[in-house]
Amino acid sequence: MAIDLRSDTVTKPSAAMRAAMAAAEVGDDVYGDDPTVNSLEERVAAMFGHEAALFSPTGSLANQLAIRTLVKPGEEIIVETRSHIVRAELGAAAAFSGITTRTWPSTDGLLKAEDPLAIAHENAGPYLVSTKAIAVENTHNFGGGTVQPINEIAKLSSAAHARGIAMHLDGARIWNAHVASGVSCAEYGKHFDTISVCLSKGLGAPIGSLMLSTKDRVAEARIWRKRYGAGMRQVGIIAAAAHFALDNNIARLAEDHARAQQIAVALASVDSTLVDPTKVETNIVGLDLSHIGISAADLTSQCKEAGLWISALGPHYARIVTHLDFDDVQCAEAIEILKKILQRALVAK
Ligand SMILES: *Cc1c(COP(=O)(O)O)cnc(C)c1O
Repeated sequence: MAIDLRSDTVTKPSAAMRAAMAAAEVGDDVYGDDPTVNSLEERVAAMFGHEAALFSPTGSLANQLAIRTLVKPGEEIIVETRSHIVRAELGAAAAFSGITTRTWPSTDGLLKAEDPLAIAHENAGPYLVSTKAIAVENTHNFGGGTVQPINEIAKLSSAAHARGIAMHLDGARIWNAHVASGVSCAEYGKHFDTISVCLSKGLGAPIGSLMLSTKDRVAEARIWRKRYGAGMRQVGIIAAAAHFALDNNIARLAEDHARAQQIAVALASVDSTLVDPTKVETNIVGLDLSHIGISAADLTSQCKEAGLWISALGPHYARIVTHLDFDDVQCAEAIEILKKILQRALVAK
């Protein structure tokens, strides 16, 4: 069996999760009749201190439903350059909602409140695009699983709100941020007008995300969800997996973080330019191959031959993501495979 570290989306529902799904009470959720969905929406909204939530098949849709309640056609949202919203949702904000996007660059995806505030342009008048929202990704995926500092979030949120600009949290991996930082979900929640969270990443559910906000925005998003064709029927069968994930799989994310740290330390000992272990805060290890004699594509294909799947996300950038279905034995094996290939590349250089 190959070891699959391409993403934390590759996890498969456990027998216990499947049992919970099989036992779920269900109803037609388009009629609001699915008790398992309703309780999930109430539960997650309460965790983040928001009024309401909406179950969504994907995090991308949860992001897009949130954004469209904050920003009108012809207005803009600003996001970090490598954020999922601008890089990995196929232009959805423009294609679905007529929303334009501007970006600010950062190091490792790390938020500094002054960066978005410097480019934000509220009430820009009749000639320029007005900024209506700022999105923050926490943890930052392409930044290497970076946890955003709560003081920068708080600073940005109060300055943005004072200028009439709304805040959106792309919290696909907010659970990892919560476990790594000790900051509660409610503390994160209070700084944002809308939030998306995923159950299908580190928490191990097969499908499922939620969009959180006020009752009014969630009601509006519910209409758009149906319009986009994602009104679902007896979807409590999926929501039950989400409940199971929340019950069982949050605290254990610390194990994924510890294994990512082990990998980072081992690879930094091969060459210190590959990764700085002090920057690996959660379950993502980004490898900078620009000083090593191997491309990300070659590393990925040599790893695959050796039984280890990782991702090439740029010509010289590879990503390793630890998760629920990856244990200590596999971790030792993955480290051996990576060390051998990287050492060989260094010698050949
Ligand atoms: C995975 C992810 C999403 C949502 O992805 P879907 O595949 O649409 O569920 C959103 N934001 C970030 C940062 C992600 O990593």
